[in-house]
Amino acid sequence: QNEKDSQFIVSNWAKDHYQKLLHETEEGESIGLSYLMQRGLNQTTIKTFELGYSLDQWDDLLKAAQKQGFEAKYLEKTGLTIVREDDPNRRYDRFRGRVMFPIHNVSGRVIGFGARTLKANDKTAKYLNSPESDIYHKSDVLYGLFQARQAIRTEEVCYLVEGYLDVLSLHQGGIKNVVASSGTSLTESQIRLIGRYTDNVTVLYDGDAAGIRASLRGIDMLLEGALNVRVVLFPDGDDPDSYIRKVGDQRFKEYLEKNSQDFISFKTRLVSQEAAHDPVKKAEAIREVLQSIAKVPDPIKRQVFLQQTSTTFGIDEQVLITEYNKLVKKDS
Ligand code: ATP
Ligand code: MN
Ligand code: MN
Ligand code: MN
Repeated sequence: QNEKDSQFIVSNWAKDHYQKLLHETEEGESIGLSYLMQRGLNQTTIKTFELGYSLDQWDDLLKAAQKQGFEAKYLEKTGLTIVREDDPNRRYDRFRGRVMFPIHNVSGRVIGFGARTLKANDKTAKYLNSPESDIYHKSDVLYGLFQARQAIRTEEVCYLVEGYLDVLSLHQGGIKNVVASSGTSLTESQIRLIGRYTDNVTVLYDGDAAGIRASLRGIDMLLEGALNVRVVLFPDGDDPDSYIRKVGDQRFKEYLEKNSQDFISFKTRLVSQEAAHDPVKKAEAIREVLQSIAKVPDPIKRQVFLQQTSTTFGIDEQVLITEYNKLVKKDS
């Protein structure tokens, strides 16, 4: 318990430190803050999400922490520093020259960080994340949930996006009921977390074909979690952040209204397009959709989806139901 408290304290302190660097140093302002402004973020958003900046130095955080009297082991355990391979007694800062995105738990305490490089052709990863610690379990966290949770309740829907910037841009545009899975594929515990606030999820993933295919499994898991799932596709190459910047808040909201589709119909259309007129592929496509329908726990909804799918594919409903029952039996 004490252990965890110390990790919370050092994380919160680091968040304050990175915030000061962003707002009160020459490097922070000219590099970090100007980057965030160039990405269209305003002061309110930057403050609401407690964004910060890490200096492009090996030991800025380390030195400041020592000055505060923090024990090195807590910096290490929260992943803020890394032990040197050539000399295990020495450490260096994990995050250097990056914009810092504190990750909060649902009660608003900082448990970790995402960090974006500002270099155009960085050889290291575009985003770095805190490693797992006693207080940070990546698979249990949704970025932005602390700032989104009221709005999710009142709007009765949760928008699910891929990245930090997507959350920030939508929030700033007045869509506050938005969270990100932050690069990882969805986990059961993230889905349960959403379910505490609403039954309705609308997935706003990046508009690239490969990404959409890869996300189908995660979306099936949302169905399994008894959530009602809708999907909005963006033009190829756009993500929610770039798209809202392009068209503006109002047109973005209209776009969501006009283009959101129920996941099962979406998947039905997607796979039937892929199958074109090939009967073998088409049969396979139908089975793929049936697999998703089988995830839906509510028998009434399942029934409606089966009816709908039979219409879309032009397959007799009894034939479809027979096939469905076969599939379900095989899997159990
Ligand atoms: P930006 O707009 O700043 O380029 P993005 O959020 O659009 O960022 P994507 O490439 O779409 O970037 O990735 C979505 C999310 O996946 C990121 O916000 C981040 O959480 C995670 N991510 C991306 N690249 C990496 C990486 N190299 N390592 C770890 N996580 C990553
Ligand atoms: Mn992407
Ligand atoms: Mn993206
Ligand atoms: Mn982006």
